Amino acid sequence: MKITDQKKALQKLGLNTPEDFLYHFPSRYGDTSEMKSIGSLVAGEAAVVFGKIIGLKTGKAFVKRTPISEGYIEDETGRLKVIWFHQPYIAKMIHDGALVRAEGKISERKGVLGMMNPKIETVATVPTGVGDSLFGSEGEAHSLYPVYPESRGVTSNWLYHSIQKILKSGILDELKDPIPDYILKTYNLPSLATALVWIHAPLKKDDALAARKRFAFEEVFFIQLQKKKERLLWQKEPAFTIEKSASDIEKFVARFPFKATEAQAKAIESIMTDFRSGHAMSRLLEGDVGSGKTAVAAATAYSVITSRPKGQDFGRLQVAYMAPTEILAKQHFESFIQYFTYLGINIGLITGKECRKFPSKTNPKEWTNISRAQLLKWVENGEIPILIGTHALIQKSVKFKHLAYVIIDEQHRFGTAQRQKLAKKDKINPHLLSMTATPIPRTLALTIYGDLDLTLLDQMPAGRKPIITEIVLPNERENTYEKIKQELKAGRQVYVICPRIDPPAEDGIRAGEPDLTTLQTKSVVEEAERLEREVFPEYKNKIGVLHSKMLPADKESVMEQFKLGEIKILVATSVVEVGVNVPNATVIIIEGAERFGLAQLHQLRGRVIRSNDQAYCYVFADSKTQKTVDRLKAFKNSSNGFELAEYDLKLRGPGELSGNKQWGISDIGMEALKNIKMVEAARTEAEYLLTNDFEFEKYPILKDKLIKRKEGEIHFE
Ligand code: ADP
Ligand code: MG
Repeated sequence: MKITDQKKALQKLGLNTPEDFLYHFPSRYGDTSEMKSIGSLVAGEAAVVFGKIIGLKTGKAFVKRTPISEGYIEDETGRLKVIWFHQPYIAKMIHDGALVRAEGKISERKGVLGMMNPKIETVATVPTGVGDSLFGSEGEAHSLYPVYPESRGVTSNWLYHSIQKILKSGILDELKDPIPDYILKTYNLPSLATALVWIHAPLKKDDALAARKRFAFEEVFFIQLQKKKERLLWQKEPAFTIEKSASDIEKFVARFPFKATEAQAKAIESIMTDFRSGHAMSRLLEGDVGSGKTAVAAATAYSVITSRPKGQDFGRLQVAYMAPTEILAKQHFESFIQYFTYLGINIGLITGKECRKFPSKTNPKEWTNISRAQLLKWVENGEIPILIGTHALIQKSVKFKHLAYVIIDEQHRFGTAQRQKLAKKDKINPHLLSMTATPIPRTLALTIYGDLDLTLLDQMPAGRKPIITEIVLPNERENTYEKIKQELKAGRQVYVICPRIDPPAEDGIRAGEPDLTTLQTKSVVEEAERLEREVFPEYKNKIGVLHSKMLPADKESVMEQFKLGEIKILVATSVVEVGVNVPNATVIIIEGAERFGLAQLHQLRGRVIRSNDQAYCYVFADSKTQKTVDRLKAFKNSSNGFELAEYDLKLRGPGELSGNKQWGISDIGMEALKNIKMVEAARTEAEYLLTNDFEFEKYPILKDKLIKRKEGEIHFE
């Protein structure tokens, strides 16, 4: 491999300094005692072998010309054929003669034993038997070896050797522990130097576990410190005091075409209590799809815009309401128009494409398009007190006269920097309300929302029929389609969710070859064609496709057509997850359901509970393992997103919380989330430390580390 390639690969992994390497932790530990010698293998059994790889090359399979990698693994007792379909890059990743560990099922073809699509990783040493020391420093027999997350160009083996070299370079004597000593003692955590040795070269499993615990605590502790500090700084600054109470907005709330739920009323009350407090609010409103967050936003916005700027008996305080997509921004604009008609309140809409103002000059019930310049002028001079929009709101050219309240919908869709840009538009900090429908476990919420107060909207508006969820077996597919046709005939619309966008690069697999389930997973593009051809031919031109590779404008246009009912059946990936309101869509089919986290499934299901009509969720799964069955049963039986998020955390582990990248937590930090006690301890210690030493004067190493973390964050955004 060329040096430059490797450099690039290392940069991609974020490995630049020796310290970065030391903080690149093994994803798991292998155990050499599980190994079998190649000579002793029997067809049909599952096995782990260690050996030297030879003759590895790319090629095309005999039938269908599928791209493959193939070669042999050799140990002193024999030679085993290995072959991978659809993974030609394997041959490029592993060089001839490399020592590997391979795991898979032994098959036989014409008397030759082989492994198809084995899991493979390069290893440091091939153990030759009991008593052989893998790391061999003290001559002690132990069989654990670390396995590092690989990426193209950097193997686990290479990482192992590099990290061992660094460990032995004496750097451990220089490294200073950022965690205060008293905390390590309280929770019985190993010091930094010890933990680094234990995590990269453990003699026993317990050492590795203790080290992982320390680093998991460390990460959650740092995040807590950062978030809490941000929160305290935010609260120190001057804020708008809004002296309104529930009775002041009673008449406004009475205008809603429904009665507010108790949960909504409580949420409104706690927000208004914050408004009166003299501190800038930072609150998260967490509620399932359809729980009515927009109405809470509207009622509290009303209390702000009917308040005067300080020391003035004219003018209005202003509200900015940001949504992640144009279609959502427009949806909120329309809801607000409904809530605010005839009150003489101007509402603006700003997106990348257009600007609108409500009401128009000629019709008090309608909006009108206006020029960007005109809109910006009216926002700046305060004539438009409510401005709703997309990212366009963040632009420097958008200036407010008295921005007192910022509402951010689906807040996780925005980066911290984007959120801050909107919140920091003015000298005075506005009150900040973030909203989300993404159910996450309590430990994760405590960690990533350490800077926010939490309000749950844990009640659905009355009159909603509970959604009917059915797990559909393959032989019931036809039946289910018949039921769906009845719904379509009655004028309803349907979502079909698939786990992937395109069909696999190469079609099909040879008979007798392993069943690569990924290749069978339904893709949006194919499934749309199939449904049109075989299942719903009568809706030929009314089937739409939506996925993340489409241009934003195309996505919006498809969503718009679905909203207008021009598209009856929308085949989509999970991009459809975010809160678009199409009350007429009452059926959702989820294909390959085992591939989604339960909380995510729940969110998808939430697409169809917008109206008072009976809604249906049909779940198709490709896998029939007990685990899949249990998970999907839990999904069928629970209508509580948080419960489902907890369930997945327990049963599938933190990795299943659909992408830790989204949450800005590393894999090891996610390990802490299974442990509520650890998360609470990190929180308590962070609070204690900040109360006693806000500037970390006694802990300069910690201070340094937090500054570095912060720089890293900005770097990525
Ligand atoms: P979300 O929390 O997903 O953002 P929305 O605010 O979009 O939910 O509300 C979903 C639908 O429920 C809207 O059509 C809204 O008018 C309606 N709604 C909100 N609150 C209530 C309520 N208390 N009773 C009946 N319907 C309500
Ligand atoms: Mg919403």
